[in-house]
Amino acid sequence: MSTETDDKHQFRPATRLVHAGYDPHEYHGFVNAPVVHASTVLFPDAATMRRRDHSYLYGLRGTPTTDALEGALNDLEGAAGTILVPSGLAAISVPLLAFLSHGDHCLVVDSVYGPTRLFCDTLLTRMGVETEYFDPAIGEGLRGLMRENTRVVFLEAPGSNTFEMIDIRLMAGIAREGGAVSMIDNTWATPLFLRPLDFGVDLSIHALTKYPGGHSDLMLGSVSANAATYKPLRDAQMQIGVNAAPDDAYLTLRGLKTMEVRLRAHERAAFDLARWLETRPEVARVLHPALPSFPGHDLWKAQFNGASGLFSFVLQGGGREQADAFLDALRIFGLGYSWGGYESLALQVDLSDRRFAKAPPEGPVIRLQIGLEDIEDLRKDLERGFSAIGALG
Ligand SMILES: *Cc1c(COP(=O)(O)O)cnc(C)c1O
Repeated sequence: MSTETDDKHQFRPATRLVHAGYDPHEYHGFVNAPVVHASTVLFPDAATMRRRDHSYLYGLRGTPTTDALEGALNDLEGAAGTILVPSGLAAISVPLLAFLSHGDHCLVVDSVYGPTRLFCDTLLTRMGVETEYFDPAIGEGLRGLMRENTRVVFLEAPGSNTFEMIDIRLMAGIAREGGAVSMIDNTWATPLFLRPLDFGVDLSIHALTKYPGGHSDLMLGSVSANAATYKPLRDAQMQIGVNAAPDDAYLTLRGLKTMEVRLRAHERAAFDLARWLETRPEVARVLHPALPSFPGHDLWKAQFNGASGLFSFVLQGGGREQADAFLDALRIFGLGYSWGGYESLALQVDLSDRRFAKAPPEGPVIRLQIGLEDIEDLRKDLERGFSAIGALG
């Protein structure tokens, strides 16, 4: 796959999404990668079986289907290697388990995805790993938190639900100087809008469940690594015993083909609605990195190639009653977790677990995932929500 992939580096991302990871002529010319359901791989004789240099040894270790998806992600992320795991959350827990041991210290950005915090505060605590959360606005101050035993710096940009921006190159550099592995949850941007390894981050994590899958019908995660971290990461994956199921890997490959087109549509509609929300009297603030009014806007512009379709806004006043009235009046936006699919979703964000990146004081925070529906229909739906708040008096 290496020469294949190397050749394709000359192409732009949209082209690579369509062609990376799989050569049809390696499989009878069929344009899509085969879906290989497998555990056992047979060897022709005992001597061959004893060797360990086979492309395929056992289903858990990989198949032509998982290879095709890993190859595509390596290409998109500029990675030395990628592992696949059964969920985005497993793509967080597996690398943390790979690089942390009893007695270690782990620095985690406070605006991190909630279940990441739960993993750190439960399983890692039980393992004897100390997690310390830092303010996403800490900047150079991160250097002061590094200890002798700091082994991991875990980043997420933008922050979950509140979209705080960080200086990724600065933080990855501080981690490296201190001998720690840096990891970033890159789910929001996808490799199209951010390539973290180019900024010196060691590991780029994705919930493939979101935009790469794109259709709310699968769960999968990936971790793409640079040359220094790939082997321990792969070893941990095999020690734990997780990989991707063939059908979900295939659906993700299928999703990647259209991801650029979908993302540009999500991006355009979300930005348009975000600007419109800024003009509404019911809205105190819109938390969207591509808005010049957003505090992290300059950092976003300097590091990202685009903004995806997930953002939040803060209601002007009110509490749960107003948030519920807004959400219950929506007819197109569904009330549901996850995002990155074709359909619009809304929910009220819970920020009660934050230490530094606190809930805005003005009112409840509503998160929107802007799907692929007609934008005027979506705008009218949001207006329905605002009318319902108004009707509360
Ligand atoms: C959804 C999500 C995950 C977890 O992905 P699952 O596949 O749902 O486990 C991780 N990080 C972020 C930022 C997410 O939004």
